[in-house]
Amino acid sequence: MFYEPEDALTGHEGRGQGYLERPTRPLPRPSEDDQTTSHATRPDRDALFLALGEEVFDVLVIGGGITGAGVARDAALRGLRVALVEKNDYASGTSSRSSRLVHGGVRYLEHGQLGLVFESSRERRTLQRIAPHLVRPLAFTWPVYRGARVPRWKLGAGLLLYDVLSLFRNRTHERLDANAVHASEPALRTDALVGGARYWDAATDDVRLTLATVLSAQRAGAVVLNHTAVVALVHEAGRVAGATVAATLDQATATVHARVVVNATGPWSDEVERMADARAGAGVRGSKGVHVSVPRVRIGNAAAVTLTAPQDGRVMFVLPAGRYAIIGTTDTYDATAPDDVHATRADVTYLLEAANHYFPDARLTEKDVVSAWAGVRPLAAHGATGAPSSASREHSIANSAPGLVRVTGGKLTTYRAMAAEVVDHVERLLGSAPSRCRTAKLAVAGGELDDTETEVAHAIAATGDEAVARRLVMAYGSAWHGVWSLTQADQGLVTAVEPGLPYLYAELLHAITHEQAATLGDLLIRRVPLAFETRDHGRSAARRVAHVVGRWLRWSLEELDDAVAAYDAESARIFSVTDD
Ligand SMILES: Cc1cc2nc3c(=O)[nH]c(=O)nc-3n(C[C@H](O)[C@H](O)[C@H](O)COP(=O)(O)OP(=O)(O)OC[C@H]3O[C@@H](n4cnc5c(N)ncnc54)[C@H](O)[C@@H]3O)c2cc1C
Repeated sequence: MFYEPEDALTGHEGRGQGYLERPTRPLPRPSEDDQTTSHATRPDRDALFLALGEEVFDVLVIGGGITGAGVARDAALRGLRVALVEKNDYASGTSSRSSRLVHGGVRYLEHGQLGLVFESSRERRTLQRIAPHLVRPLAFTWPVYRGARVPRWKLGAGLLLYDVLSLFRNRTHERLDANAVHASEPALRTDALVGGARYWDAATDDVRLTLATVLSAQRAGAVVLNHTAVVALVHEAGRVAGATVAATLDQATATVHARVVVNATGPWSDEVERMADARAGAGVRGSKGVHVSVPRVRIGNAAAVTLTAPQDGRVMFVLPAGRYAIIGTTDTYDATAPDDVHATRADVTYLLEAANHYFPDARLTEKDVVSAWAGVRPLAAHGATGAPSSASREHSIANSAPGLVRVTGGKLTTYRAMAAEVVDHVERLLGSAPSRCRTAKLAVAGGELDDTETEVAHAIAATGDEAVARRLVMAYGSAWHGVWSLTQADQGLVTAVEPGLPYLYAELLHAITHEQAATLGDLLIRRVPLAFETRDHGRSAARRVAHVVGRWLRWSLEELDDAVAAYDAESARIFSVTDD
């Protein structure tokens, strides 16, 4: 039995939601003659799954985090035949749990990693050019207190070096006296404040950066599919020649043949290595990083603040994120399976204590925490020997078996450069000299914008709502028109998914038709970050949303219940805080 729309309109969960108060208006359902969707991006999952088995690809990329996405895009732009499979959703791993910074890595200066800072600064410039809507300048205030581990002179010298390593092409730092620090961040502790500095890095949206890169790969001809796991590697003539993949939503399996396989599974990469050689040792060492978000009014930060944790002197941040402030991060080696990583009470306490130390009026307690989540940094094991915070963030590319290339380490910031190196390596394995990498010049999907603020002004004129306009332009860039135009066909799509948050039902429809969103988790955790911004992590919204998208996706009542249960399980897995 297919789900009847009337059920949605009488269900308790739907009451009071503008969209569901419109019983007579049929909801748009993606169809073959729908002019708002393009064939290139239409998610005919069965056809895509079949396509995976139909040819011998030059490269099969395993993993749809930022690393795999970057490799697939670069390889496809160089004319290689590329397939990418992701076992869950794009960016569902570490690439949705970062501090959302594209940064030169000021703290790496302390560890003498000047090469990494130079590369990261160059990539910060590049990403601001190719993804201007997703990588935006962000000012940081770094206050210095008497007796601090990093005194003023050292901070000044470090930031000067930071400017030098960015070739002075980033806005340069300013020294601040105590009054100027107080003027920038009035809520900061003032006793023993001796001054500080302001410097510039960039903020990003890790999920949307990953998605934009996946979509770009797809536009360049790659076959990409989420909810498709590699379960075994195919061996032919003594080399890895492809993989067996399983569709996690409907149990289908297929064999993908490829001349080279790239293992870009971040913290999971040892699992894939063991599919090639059961005796493979550890190539990756996971370091867990936890963030918490609290209402910004509770902490009172004006912009981004860099702090050294009072407990152990580690560098950490308080970051602005709309109505919220994000405090992060911890950095501890952790052997928990990456699928199960989550925050503990001790992690949360550490972060709140540090924030309370510097923002004494905040007096944050666990009750203030809107959400807490953890991610695993996939550090290259050979560089991860000392304390995790001083372990190298450099990446490593290795031929772990004939036909299998493994990439580990790295950062969101350096993904493009890392991908270029991987694809050079792949081309050599394929028997040709590396061809020209084009990813530093070509905008990612949605990045074709002259000026973000001008685009926001157009979006405000169209939508009449600044918060919605900013969200649309910052998330979709030049593609915002496509999302908004869905509302011309159905005004109901202007309804906010959650009252008070700027995410529209139009975004959910777009996510299904253009971004391969297939589950409620894809929609409410990653396509819109509602789960991060609500205390119940989107659970109440999930049931409401299920009634609407269930009609678009023709879910039966059983499927609808299963979808909600799967959402509850996924959000609990990501956002639960446990005692250990
Ligand atoms: C707390 C924290 C803060 C950070 N902050 C920053 C920051 O501010 N700036 C920055 O530049 N970097 C930051 N980083 C680092 C950055 O987030 C990571 O380096 C990056 O996201 C790793 O991406 P990845 O694609 O290698 O791994 P992932 O994003 O984990 O992707 C691997 C993917 O492989 C998939 N997969 C696994 N097994 C299989 C299989 N068998 N078949 C198919 N798919 C599979 C997984 O589902 C996953 O989606 C941070 C990291 C952490 C943990």
